[in-house]
Amino acid sequence: MTDDQEPADEPITIECDTHGKRTTAVLCGHLIRPTDTVLGFVENSSDPDDQQAWCDDCERVFLREDGKTGAFLAFNEACVVCDRCYARAKALHSNQSSGAN
Ligand SMILES: [Zn+2]
Ligand SMILES: [Zn+2]
Repeated sequence: MTDDQEPADEPITIECDTHGKRTTAVLCGHLIRPTDTVLGFVENSSDPDDQQAWCDDCERVFLREDGKTGAFLAFNEACVVCDRCYARAKALHSNQSSGAN
């Protein structure tokens, strides 16, 4: 371990209406809309400082488009949220069933 970390290493923060100043995370537009339906929650990064996720529909379009194409991005409608909003969406939209096909 060394002490010469660059200051640019700080996580980017967002001023969330609900949670105040928090670390940023990214969700698709579908996951941030109020809904009673479980949409699925597909995480795209295993880095805890880089939280990004989208729903099952976005995952299908991503696989069909084979990448982050214009069509995918238009469907995805990615939004920057705070890490607590991300955690809440994860709790709401994670598929509960463990034995699905
Ligand atoms: Zn989505
Ligand atoms: Zn928030």
